[in-house]
Amino acid sequence: MLPWHNNSFNQLISKKKIFPQSLLIYGPQGIGKVDFAQTLIQALLCATPLSDHQPCGKCQSCYWLMQKQHPDLITLSIENNNTQDGEEKPLEDKNKEKKTHYINIDAVRELGSFLTVGAQRQGYKIVFIEQADALNINAANALLKALEEPPTNILFILVANDIKKILPTILSRCQKLRLNQPNAQDAFNYLDIPQHQADYLLSVYGTPLSLKRAIDQGAEELRKPYLTLLNKNQVQLLELSALAQKIPLEYWLDWTHKWSVDLIAHHFTQQKWFHKDTEFSAKPMNDYILFDLLHWEHQLKNAKRYQFHPLVAKLFIEDLLIPWLPINRYLY
Ligand SMILES: [Zn+2]
Repeated sequence: MLPWHNNSFNQLISKKKIFPQSLLIYGPQGIGKVDFAQTLIQALLCATPLSDHQPCGKCQSCYWLMQKQHPDLITLSIENNNTQDGEEKPLEDKNKEKKTHYINIDAVRELGSFLTVGAQRQGYKIVFIEQADALNINAANALLKALEEPPTNILFILVANDIKKILPTILSRCQKLRLNQPNAQDAFNYLDIPQHQADYLLSVYGTPLSLKRAIDQGAEELRKPYLTLLNKNQVQLLELSALAQKIPLEYWLDWTHKWSVDLIAHHFTQQKWFHKDTEFSAKPMNDYILFDLLHWEHQLKNAKRYQFHPLVAKLFIEDLLIPWLPINRYLY
């Protein structure tokens, strides 16, 4: 669990005996909500928790959880989400993933027998729903039934990025806990990089967890070389495309889109919003080139919808880089 969630954790777990029967943990993506929920579940199920309520990591229950086979826990989640672990999967697996972007009713029906059989141990049985905002309507209605009259030892723990996507009837049955972004100091301590660097990197990646993932995957070290090339005088499509293809697609598209936004922001406000560490000396833009730039920004933003399954990555990238070339010619 991440250090900036300690207070929320302590407040909840100190009331372990009167724990809310349905708890919804929500907040922005990439701040560690699932880690938080998993630690909470382990602490609730642990047979011999430590004096600060943290799970012991040694008892049978903790062992079962580490093996992901605790008999008193059932987890509903979207499986095979390859954006979570960053692993490349074979194409046929990727195609399967498209069908599982929501939690369907069959998954919720499996809860039936779990809810009616007593706990293996004296204590709670927990239903953990990792992406409560991914329940489709039938699944949400089935869940609602379960939430209405649960046996007293059952706890529901739900996690969501966007509570607007959850049925109001489910929301009203849950106690809600909002987890927040870490403050700047916590984020710097966690990332273990100098404050000025963390400052501008966070403006590119948004949250400390996303930033850490980009650093761990080796993507961040390609960002500056890529932006430098993008802004090279008379850059050629071939060299630009060759470097772009070495960058994980989601980063490449996000950086490029943010770059287009930076140019627009700079035109109107003399400030960049995202790649604040990138120097450039461009000419002031006339209306025609500004129009081209706005159009390119729009194309990049739309392309984000297709980024996880382009037919041919090279074509996808080059298609989006071509509109940049005349802008580049004009600016430099
Ligand atoms: Zn334990």
